[in-house]
Amino acid sequence: MIKTRESAAILVVEDNPDNMKLFAWTLEDQGYDFQGADSAEAAFEILQRRRFDLILMDISLPGIDGKEAVRRLRDDSRYADLPIFAVTAHAIKGEEESIRASGITRIVTKPIDEDLLIEAIRSQLESERSLG
Ligand code: MN
Repeated sequence: MIKTRESAAILVVEDNPDNMKLFAWTLEDQGYDFQGADSAEAAFEILQRRRFDLILMDISLPGIDGKEAVRRLRDDSRYADLPIFAVTAHAIKGEEESIRASGITRIVTKPIDEDLLIEAIRSQLESERSLG
């Protein structure tokens, strides 16, 4: 079954409630199937129950941080190719390299520009579909 991009399921891992509201509002406004998790641990639990087309992962999280969470997901063959966008405040060069090294698909910088975020998600999901 071909899924329209608007029905794609997106998991957002973010501990800041105001940022989470912004993600929820922005993604639901575009028709995406939004689910939030306020920690990596909560995200792992949700992932046991359902599948997603893309994950937005905050890097700075209490407990397991975003980089470690992505490393763990990439070690699991089910999530080896899942698009995962890191969401982070303007990172210094060295940190950006370590974020990329964790296996993320791309970096989205905070503060979030909603238009750029939606464009990045659309182009990612379109490229996934064209790969079949
Ligand atoms: Mn955070």
